[in-house]
Amino acid sequence: MKKLFKNGKVVDVVNKKVVEADILVEDGIIAAVGKDIEAPKNVKTVDLKGSTVLPGLFNCHVHITSEPDPRKESPKTDAGMTIQAINNLQLHLSSGVTYIRDVGSANFIDIELRDAVASGKVNGPDMQVSGRCICMTGGHGWATGRQADGADECRKAAREMLRAGADWIKVMATGGVMTKGVEPGAEQLTVEEMAAIVEEAHKKGALTCTHAPGNTGIKNALKAGIDCIEHGIYLDDEAIGTMLAQGSWLVPTLCAPHFILKYGIAGGVPEYAVRKTEIVHDHHFASFQKAYKAGVKCACGTDAGTPYNPHNGTPNELILMVKSGLTPFEAIETATINSAKLMGVESSLGTIEVGKKAHFAIFRKDPTEDIQNIADCQMTVKNGEIVYKK
Ligand SMILES: [Zn+2]
Repeated sequence: MKKLFKNGKVVDVVNKKVVEADILVEDGIIAAVGKDIEAPKNVKTVDLKGSTVLPGLFNCHVHITSEPDPRKESPKTDAGMTIQAINNLQLHLSSGVTYIRDVGSANFIDIELRDAVASGKVNGPDMQVSGRCICMTGGHGWATGRQADGADECRKAAREMLRAGADWIKVMATGGVMTKGVEPGAEQLTVEEMAAIVEEAHKKGALTCTHAPGNTGIKNALKAGIDCIEHGIYLDDEAIGTMLAQGSWLVPTLCAPHFILKYGIAGGVPEYAVRKTEIVHDHHFASFQKAYKAGVKCACGTDAGTPYNPHNGTPNELILMVKSGLTPFEAIETATINSAKLMGVESSLGTIEVGKKAHFAIFRKDPTEDIQNIADCQMTVKNGEIVYKK
């Protein structure tokens, strides 16, 4: 099955340039990229009329079962949450996202969905998932997480997630904004507890990430050998130095505090969450800027599902990154090739190159000229098929 996408402006996210080109796709794989490709016989042609083609975007921090509107009642049953999650998957597709990582959902719904998407039963972005997050008793995320105390129980909890089919293990190194009664700066799981989890994950070829706003918690997680820091609100030179030495990733999720403060208590966000966000907001943006400048590997994630942080909101993260000083190309790089590297899929995704999967995000105007254009996705292509069209 061949398809020719004609008259595109194709973005090369590695060499940071835009070239006018056609893209020939064969059986879901990019077969040729270049100017004036002659259409083979019986090929289906899609005229892009000068639209800009990016590699399909990644969102590496979502909670697919979560409802971002705090005024709406969240579904409580597995069936209700699954319906909501399938709807959320369509929202991701509609914003050019063809790959997501779920870092904490209820009752293994994310694992079922990953498999349903992979087998074609459900339309959605490709997924990597973590099942239930592992937290200490009463710690951040305990309502849907797996509570575990002590290295042995944490090891068992990690094995349970791996048995269920998790690609990642998500742990809670510190408290957080959205759980009542815990503070973002306070450390939670210990180095020993996290080290046991990391060891189990790595033995099975899985990776680990941690919710880690607070400085001591970040350092504890790094000591335990964590692969990816989420949020990283209180990074200092020492933590950044360790991340560089260990090759750890940062997924800053700038959208999370931004939208909590934008809509606030008037929008129905709990008072405790607004109060905590007011304290951490400026540190969060400063930490990201410092880490990015120092050369820490950064990928894109929004924390979709937190208040007013919607599942079609991946463009918002890139807009906030540019407001933090990145060029549009640098921001786009975090959501494409960098995120593909974090997911370990850079050999098949993350750039538009011959031999890679035909996952595209297509925009009416060029987001490399003005990042705001990334909020206007016209078409999303996955494995050469149009999975969303405006
Ligand atoms: Zn999160």
